[in-house]
Amino acid sequence: MTVIVVTGIPGVGSSTVVEEALKLKGGEPGFVCINYGDVMLEVAKEEELVVVAKRDEIRKLGSDEQHRIQMLAANNISHQAKKSNVILDTHCTIKTPLGYLPGLPEYVLKELKLDQFVLIEASPEEIFNRRYKDKSRERDVEGEKSIEEHQMMNRAMAMAYACLTGACVKIIENHDDAVKQAAEKFLKLL
Ligand code: AMP
Ligand code: MG
Repeated sequence: MTVIVVTGIPGVGSSTVVEEALKLKGGEPGFVCINYGDVMLEVAKEEELVVVAKRDEIRKLGSDEQHRIQMLAANNISHQAKKSNVILDTHCTIKTPLGYLPGLPEYVLKELKLDQFVLIEASPEEIFNRRYKDKSRERDVEGEKSIEEHQMMNRAMAMAYACLTGACVKIIENHDDAVKQAAEKFLKLL
């Protein structure tokens, strides 16, 4: 089945764009939406490997633990992707205390057959302000330079994933008050 990977740095609104696209489509979207972070939380709980209560704690775990639950999540998602088309909400890189962790390293790419990458982007200023306003999450407080670096790393990483899989990379801008336009562009890909 088809797997479309949707990524974007925290606060860019990638999950919101996907939700909006599915609303616009209405009815049966033909795709199941899976959030990689949700699956990581689930498998971590099931395996009693690590105690993580909140999604924003995962990226602060030791790198071995993150790798372990990342791989277990990939196994779980690949089972689901055998039965239905999947929109996978995840990250090209995750900012951890040790640096940028690849969201889809080679062992994950081998497990999941990915067909298309989407990068949701906005300006560093927009992302900074969205993180500041979002009280529902424990977003990292970062300056605009650092946000810009993260988006640049994600572009580079997306092209590396493209080289390994042959899948294309589409960049969609999600500017303030323009979620609908971003969602329409995403829908076209579906
Ligand atoms: P999100 O809700 O998309 O911000 O995801 C919550 C958390 O899940 C992230 O901060 C990461 O710690 C973790 N996560 C999501 N996708 C991946 C991935 N592909 N590899 C490793 N960790 C991930
Ligand atoms: Mg999200």
